[in-house]
Amino acid sequence: MRDKELYAQILGIHKSWRVADVELKQPTGEVEVFVERKPGVQQTCPICGDASSGYDKRRRRWRHLDTCQYKTILVADVPRVQCKKHGVVMVKAPWAEPGSRFSVLFEALVINWLKEASTQAVSRQLELGWNAMDGIMRRAVKRGMARRASLDPKHIGVDETAFRKRHDYVTVVSDQDTGHVLHVAEDRKKTNLKAWYASLSGERIAAMESVSMDMWPAFINATLESIPGAEEKIAFDKFHVAKYLGEAVDKVRREEHKALMAEGR
Ligand SMILES: [Zn+2]
Repeated sequence: MRDKELYAQILGIHKSWRVADVELKQPTGEVEVFVERKPGVQQTCPICGDASSGYDKRRRRWRHLDTCQYKTILVADVPRVQCKKHGVVMVKAPWAEPGSRFSVLFEALVINWLKEASTQAVSRQLELGWNAMDGIMRRAVKRGMARRASLDPKHIGVDETAFRKRHDYVTVVSDQDTGHVLHVAEDRKKTNLKAWYASLSGERIAAMESVSMDMWPAFINATLESIPGAEEKIAFDKFHVAKYLGEAVDKVRREEHKALMAEGR
């Protein structure tokens, strides 16, 4: 039927699921969309991904985005599988987070409205109780944290950049892989860089594989004192190494020249 295809499309139903039926319930004016696993799709354990045999099914309902002003409910008999390692596990419905009674798209709608209006207003307009609102917000925070954790930089660069007058320096810490600026301090002191390192979790510190910098002692010391194994991780950038090497060679050359002059050659 046409409406099933339409719903499958607007619901973004995953390829291993299909819309079995759509019903407009009266007098509540709710649309119920029945979704089912396509037959013949290999069941896998949601934890380890191993092929598993079917165990049973559990009926679940999720509120989804309204269709034409009608409150829309997804209904599915979600299979539970028997995994050899993990026992009986419920398959993950691709349109919702585990434990939520709302589809991911509905939760996104709520979060977007919360950026525009008060919690009370959103709860009233979307007819959501406090527990529902709370759950949606908690899951959004958790997703945000997970995204941030995945942004943990592996290779950072610490630069001192002069601006305005010659001796006004700022410290800029950036992710060398993405170019994102992670931290800016209004000087190039050891204490400020150390404070930034101290604000990071142990895991983030441990995840850092290299810190490239110029040979400014404050940066070197802050890094040595904050990152375990920093001796192995600090990399001086080529430009500065070449500059210092050039200066060292020049100094030796001048001293030798002076010494030769003194010997009267
Ligand atoms: Zn498993």
